[in-house]
Amino acid sequence: MPLRGAGGNTRKQTHTMLNVTPVTPDAIPVAVPPEMGVSFDTLGLIDAIRNAVRGENYTTPTPIQAQAIPHLLAGRDLLGCAQTGTGKTAAFALPILQRLAESRRPAGARKMRALILTPTRELASQIDESFRAYGRHVGLSSHVIFGGVGQRPQVQALQRGLDILVATPGRLLDLMNQGHARLDTVEVFVLDEADRMLDMGFIHDVKKIIAALPAKRQTLLFSATMPNDIAHLADRILNQPVRVAVTPVAATADRIDQWVLHVERSNKRALLDSVLKDRSIARALVFSRTKHGANKIAEQLARGGVAAEAIHGNKSQGARERALANFKAGKIRVLVATDIAARGIDIDDVTHVINYDLPNVPESYVHRIGRTARAGASGVAISFCDREERAYLRDIEKLIRKAVPVVENHPFRLEPGAPGSDPAPARPQQGHRGKGGGRPQHRQQRRRRR
Ligand code: AMP
Repeated sequence: MPLRGAGGNTRKQTHTMLNVTPVTPDAIPVAVPPEMGVSFDTLGLIDAIRNAVRGENYTTPTPIQAQAIPHLLAGRDLLGCAQTGTGKTAAFALPILQRLAESRRPAGARKMRALILTPTRELASQIDESFRAYGRHVGLSSHVIFGGVGQRPQVQALQRGLDILVATPGRLLDLMNQGHARLDTVEVFVLDEADRMLDMGFIHDVKKIIAALPAKRQTLLFSATMPNDIAHLADRILNQPVRVAVTPVAATADRIDQWVLHVERSNKRALLDSVLKDRSIARALVFSRTKHGANKIAEQLARGGVAAEAIHGNKSQGARERALANFKAGKIRVLVATDIAARGIDIDDVTHVINYDLPNVPESYVHRIGRTARAGASGVAISFCDREERAYLRDIEKLIRKAVPVVENHPFRLEPGAPGSDPAPARPQQGHRGKGGGRPQHRQQRRRRR
């Protein structure tokens, strides 16, 4: 079957740049090779933090860590063009922990010394966990707040004052408006996934939060892409920032084996069943455009004997965490997610990303498939494309600057050039699958320029 990974973890095999500027579009999120002399021992980190990093089994800093940490320790502002999977959390968390530990002082009731703003609950939880792991020997206080859960414990945690607060914008603003949170002692502010904040409509909340910050502070802004609005915001809030870029969004796609399967919409479920018969698909993240669709796919898979659960914004926090934990532990083989729920999900060893629906925002495609190439590993991305999604596919190919190879030999194949609207389901072809594995027969799809 065609859908096997292109290789194992390439983290140590590929080198990348160490310079801070200029930004190169081809940088790859792999650890900096040891022969270049960069290690966690040469970045200026204190023992307590180096020991915690060792405890995480990180041997070598990733490029963004190598580039950012010394400047952040020196108190510089930073503009980071990087997405999750590059090691960016440690790139900002390690120096923040160190600076706060070296100048200990109580934050004061309802206040915090470092504020990390991130768009989703999942990301917020992961960042908070990272701070706890990397900071386990420095004894600082941290807490995470997000919406969709009761605010009482959050209010209580804030009441005592915190060294580090990780928050999503809506809930933080609510708590600020109710007088439970005050930002006037923030020394370090991190705006994480700024482009996603914009996409998700959070930018006004973010601006209100920024307006409540003290003028004198260290500011870090991370964004996978740099739309104009974010570039302007960066200009406004950053003071002579160091610029660091790794994995521009389009380049992520290079490490991933990508395939597209043309199919009638009405045949997608059957195609998914058929694709999942391949046992090399050990841990698959399936993307659906809608929450309702995600539920239906997960239910259908479960009925067909494939252990699957759905994760999206309508699920309770508990249900989301359970689904994620089951997936991480290998108890379920398939996690069906919407874009927002999956954003930043940090799960190693996702062998396949399956785009059951193609996203209408091409950057989302790159974010989705990046879930299977964590920290330098490679992976496989399979996209189902119906007639109406062909325009999306063209936009994606334009963004990643290459055509996605077409799998020809699947049972529900729809001729990519076939015109018209979605007719009656196509009859499955017989004898479709090549035996003996290997690559599928494919041809490069002609790229249409617009
Ligand atoms: P992030 O981009 O911060 O979401 O990190 C992506 C993944 O890489 C997480 O699972 C981290 O635990 C892992 N990671 C971060 N830094 C390193 C490193 N220097 N070596 C190995 N893994 C790392």
